[in-house]
Amino acid sequence: MSINQATTVRRIHPNPAARFAEGLIWFAILAVIGVILLIIPPIGIFVLLCAFIAPVYCVLMADSRDKLVGPCPYCGNEIRVLWQKARKRGFNCKWCKRRLFVQGVAGDERFMGVQ
Ligand SMILES: [Zn+2]
Repeated sequence: MSINQATTVRRIHPNPAARFAEGLIWFAILAVIGVILLIIPPIGIFVLLCAFIAPVYCVLMADSRDKLVGPCPYCGNEIRVLWQKARKRGFNCKWCKRRLFVQGVAGDERFMGVQ
């Protein structure tokens, strides 16, 4: 197994304000459903609680939504991948379908191919 040349990538951190706005949309949706479901009180109350948690959850989970962007070591096309997913199991280049892995510490990551 020989290791292909690694390429440097940059990390994109989602804007916390945008994540909070996304959370507010979930809040609105869940609040409406929750109020309707109050005809069955335990379910309605549970959904309303989820509605209040949603914006906080979205902001706290923003880190796991980090994206890595960089060229594929094989074909050179730009790849965008969710950091958490790529880090755990590797991923396939969407252009050439080859298997890639993420190497290096946070903030200094590289895409690496394995042949
Ligand atoms: Zn590729």
